[in-house]
Amino acid sequence: MIPNILSIAGSDPSGGAGIQADIKAISANGGYAMAAITALTAQNTQGVQAVQMVAPDFVTQQIAALRADIRIDAVKIGMLGSAEMVNTARLALDGLDVPVVLDPVMVAKGGDRLLQADAVAALRAALSMASVITPNLPEAADLLGQAEADTRDQMESQAQALLALGPKAVLLKGGHLPGRDCPDLLATADGQTWLPGPRHDTRRTHGTGCTLSSALATLLGHKQALPQACIGAKAYVSGAIRHSGALSVGQGHGPTHH
Ligand code: PLP
Repeated sequence: MIPNILSIAGSDPSGGAGIQADIKAISANGGYAMAAITALTAQNTQGVQAVQMVAPDFVTQQIAALRADIRIDAVKIGMLGSAEMVNTARLALDGLDVPVVLDPVMVAKGGDRLLQADAVAALRAALSMASVITPNLPEAADLLGQAEADTRDQMESQAQALLALGPKAVLLKGGHLPGRDCPDLLATADGQTWLPGPRHDTRRTHGTGCTLSSALATLLGHKQALPQACIGAKAYVSGAIRHSGALSVGQGHGPTHH
């Protein structure tokens, strides 16, 4: 059975991140991709020039239309942008009993904010709707109001603190750790597991967070167990980064190749 995967996220017209990356990653991992759009961005590989939020009621309408007709096997949540949109997504998914992967998108790779500063508290309060959250280290620090982790020990304690906020699992991404490798940490009520990974020396990382969370939602939609799905999604992103050299897209943080 091909799982139906819903991405609730923003649009990146350059195709590297947002729903465009989600659709590619879901398709490449054997899912059928759907997208309810929360925001339009005007951006390229060098930065985000503008953000136009979609009216929250219209996001509710998009998700309601899908739920009225289509079986949804897993959900990925990306850019929400505002506190109102965080609550909109939470209410729109109410009662839907499928894996929800929440990527707490806050800042684009080039440093532009994608979540209004006053929405961080709302996002923190909404983490409990997630089966698994996939923060990177700056996002984890922001959610916890702490300094960014720069050791594995600090990652372990921040993953535990994030778990205490209510998601069923935390996949804390170590790509910002100093050092030669790129370990991620999976924390659940059953304990913590390190997932090793190589570091790729490249600026072509635009959309890696979107890609990971979408691949993960798709593998969970295929009914893989969480640890296996995390390993598979991480391997998929690693391959997409490795193949990014085949692309010639823009002068800045280039996209990965699915
Ligand atoms: N969602 C949208 C719409 C974006 O434009 C971006 C980055 O530009 C992201 C999410 C996050 O991207 P990344 O996967 O690089 O963290």
